[in-house]
Amino acid sequence: MALTDIHGQQRAIRFLRQLLKKEAVPHAFLFSGMAGVGKFAAAMELAKALNCLSPQDYDSCGRCSSCHKLEEGLHPDLIHITNEGVFIKLEQIRDLMKRFRFRPFEGKFRVVIIQDAQKLMEPAANAMLKILEEPPKANIFILLATESQMLLPTIVSRCCQVRFQPLADEIVAEWLAREGGLSPDHAYGIARLAAGSIEKARWFSDEDRVAGWKKVVGKLENLDGLSILDFFPMVSDWAKNRESAEQDLEFIRLWVRDLILFRVAGAKSSPQGQAPPKLVSTARPPAREASPGASLTFELNGRTKEAARSVAPERLFFLYHNVEQAMQGLKVNANLQMTLESVCLAIKDSLYGKGGWHSFPKRRQDLPF
Ligand SMILES: [Zn+2]
Repeated sequence: MALTDIHGQQRAIRFLRQLLKKEAVPHAFLFSGMAGVGKFAAAMELAKALNCLSPQDYDSCGRCSSCHKLEEGLHPDLIHITNEGVFIKLEQIRDLMKRFRFRPFEGKFRVVIIQDAQKLMEPAANAMLKILEEPPKANIFILLATESQMLLPTIVSRCCQVRFQPLADEIVAEWLAREGGLSPDHAYGIARLAAGSIEKARWFSDEDRVAGWKKVVGKLENLDGLSILDFFPMVSDWAKNRESAEQDLEFIRLWVRDLILFRVAGAKSSPQGQAPPKLVSTARPPAREASPGASLTFELNGRTKEAARSVAPERLFFLYHNVEQAMQGLKVNANLQMTLESVCLAIKDSLYGKGGWHSFPKRRQDLPF
């Protein structure tokens, strides 16, 4: 394994190899991007390339003693810091600072990988900032973050930021087929749910979770015809499980994305036995000129299709952003029940109501109930 063996992150890997080629590797990196897209693998491969005893074409050889030790996690100059409990604590950063009294033992560089750097508690983040302000020689810091906006801006500004994109469905599906022995159809179905993340793909390999997706979609489909007397108790019941709520909102986002694909591009679910065509995007709302071949996560039911056909695409894009905002809100501890009420009301109104989303309904018959 080497930098060039990392799939789906060509731009990031090309950039890192250019730095190696120019011998212009900065003392601190911030690898940002969703979980499960190869940030840690790239950090490890960069550590190998930096310390390789016989580098080849600005990459590691994979055969020398340094490469072997790094691969086996036995290299004394690799430090991997992860959260202890919920956060990365000040003591962990203080312990790290003690190591700087010594030069790297074996390698040219000591490589410090900080996993989930957004979990640095404030005192730990301040200590980390001090290190980055006066970096010790021959140390390379690689901060990995899924939500770089949660880091201190002063830390971000001292790092060379490398963005990692969600992986293409084909790459995730190939991985599932190779590592999990899944059939191509099954692998593609899960890859779509995973939205570009190997970590999520692994998570969705569990049948119970696919059942969770179907349960959420069932609730959304039932919004049609749900009376006001049933609506609020349904949401209140849903909001009891905060643990699954973030995942449920991700399911809702995927479902709305499917509505957009269906409405704008006339997408269908992939026919059995055929390799599904390439998706437009897994991370953003699909472009308006989406390919007619773009495929859905799962087949939409007849009533949902009928409703989606009669809705203006702008309204579906609005819904998509509404769900994204709700997801952001939950990350900063928004009230779960109110969040779900807002999202479900917007879906009910947009798909099954008669009122305009941009204005307060003026007539009783325009209300979604
Ligand atoms: Zn090597």
